[in-house]
Amino acid sequence: MTGPRTEPDGVVSALADADDAIVESALRPRRLAELIGQDRVREQLSLVLQGAMGRRRPPDHVLLSGPPGLGKTTLAMIIATELGASLRITSGPAIERSGDLAAILSTLAEGEVLFIDEIHRVARPAEEMLYLAMEDFRVDVVLGKGPGATAIPLDIAPFTLVGATTRAGLLPAALRDRFGFTAHLDFYEPAELGIIVRRSAGLLGVRLRDDGADEIAGRSRGTPRIANRLLRRVRDFAEVRGDGVVTRDCARAALDLYEVDESGLDRLDRAVLSALVSRFGGGPVGLSTLAVAVGEEEATVTEVAEPFLVRVGLIARTPRGRVAAPAAWQHLGLPVPGRIAWGPGGPDGRAAEVTLFD
Ligand code: ADP
Repeated sequence: MTGPRTEPDGVVSALADADDAIVESALRPRRLAELIGQDRVREQLSLVLQGAMGRRRPPDHVLLSGPPGLGKTTLAMIIATELGASLRITSGPAIERSGDLAAILSTLAEGEVLFIDEIHRVARPAEEMLYLAMEDFRVDVVLGKGPGATAIPLDIAPFTLVGATTRAGLLPAALRDRFGFTAHLDFYEPAELGIIVRRSAGLLGVRLRDDGADEIAGRSRGTPRIANRLLRRVRDFAEVRGDGVVTRDCARAALDLYEVDESGLDRLDRAVLSALVSRFGGGPVGLSTLAVAVGEEEATVTEVAEPFLVRVGLIARTPRGRVAAPAAWQHLGLPVPGRIAWGPGGPDGRAAEVTLFD
């Protein structure tokens, strides 16, 4: 879920905007069997849940990691539904003090599922309270202050914590180790996104042809949230400019209008790529210089454009700066120069290996 935002970065941002938040609840798969893709996670989780139900005990705590928009919140909801348990939802930034967490933990019903989104952002003192709660189903309520303070142990009902994080690396090992089951969600294949888009079209009453679904899937950056958003933009286009049916041509025309290209790159991504290739000969170039060249803040370049460009192997971050892979020239329809900083890259000209040095 990753906190709905009112100012989206653009039509291909993986973060939810206010509009997404409303539509998404209608589009979420409700049961594990309805979930598309993530086959291994689905199978593993199914065993964890069935095992626990057989023993009539709450399952191990579950940690879900992976980039935004891939289904972490959806899975948390599915876990509660499969267990027939109720679900309490909160997020790391909402837990500023240990008292915030104690108030939630002490009112959990037996077997309830507690979902903490962005769990890497839980404040430190609350995190320690979480350790005890996860391990011993106990919280220490501290009465008084200073040397006279006393901790009164309070038993809480056995529950299952589902934590979600986009930054598993930021979680302290002590917290990570207390999750009995950890699942990493990966980006989806275009074929899976095609199925997701078709399913969403059915739920939203959009008339979608298979080739239209494939076109949307291919431009969705491996992310169901983006696929569902592009579907809504394309539907508007089909209804206003066409006969309401989303075909390949209609999807192409709509997404070209929104400046989302065949690989899912948007205007900013292409600006970064084109500055790197045309103005700096493919780099290496420092972040601040690149940001000035595209007229954006450094953070916009690193947080919005680069993760996807790096992931698809069009650019790489090296100790000397950003460099373009041969595929970057190809993507822009330019001839690949003989000598470039990155070297030959992979067989398709994409950065074969990505080095993160920031
Ligand atoms: P996250 O919590 O990881 O940011 P969400 O669970 O909020 O992502 O998912 C975003 C949207 O994508 C939801 O509306 C959901 O409908 C859709 N979605 C995510 N994963 C799947 C999936 N495997 N199958 C179908 N739809 C999915």
